[in-house]
Amino acid sequence: MEIKVLRNILDANDALAAENRRLFDQHHVTVLNLMSSPGAGKTALLECTLDALKGTLAMGVIEGDVATRYDADRIGRHDVPVLQINTGGDCHLDANMVHHALEQFPLQGLDLVFIENVGNLVCPAGFALGEDAKVTVLSVAEGDDKPEKYPAMFQESAAVVINKTDLLPYTDFDLTAAVRRAHEINPRLVTFPLSCKTKEGLEPWLKWVRSMVARHQP
Ligand code: MG
Repeated sequence: MEIKVLRNILDANDALAAENRRLFDQHHVTVLNLMSSPGAGKTALLECTLDALKGTLAMGVIEGDVATRYDADRIGRHDVPVLQINTGGDCHLDANMVHHALEQFPLQGLDLVFIENVGNLVCPAGFALGEDAKVTVLSVAEGDDKPEKYPAMFQESAAVVINKTDLLPYTDFDLTAAVRRAHEINPRLVTFPLSCKTKEGLEPWLKWVRSMVARHQP
């Protein structure tokens, strides 16, 4: 019985995600859904990505958090439209939350929308939002065994950003092993080791983001 209830919830979510998808397509907007555990650096990645791409792409951000608008305030300083969703306790965004957010978030004129999911390495993977791709952010302050421990995140993602590489000398994180483990879980994954702090490795990630947007342009 419980399994059936969950199935119904996910079916309803998929139907709404498809509606979001239609809306994004109508406006030729590319949407990337950023997921990670709390503190891996989703907001920092957004900040340096927005700064690097502004002037070439029209971007917007939908922020998901359990509480507060701290991240939305950070993003707002980068002169892009931003909307905060507070889930009020839920550990992930769902398509319905994004659907309602879009009523107050004009897509007209935008090329690219980032959705920052709630910091959680389990639940966000199960809920489509209508995005073009999910991106998992993993930081070297976490373990390099995360792909095996949280496989759904890596199975569902098109790309993995391995953030905070400037901290590598101070951790036991094995970058090669992390990339190998991620590919064992999902061979199609593209991986981007980078540091939002030093900007080292940022360019390949930016190139990938641009290529995702290019696929969508009329
Ligand atoms: Mg954040």
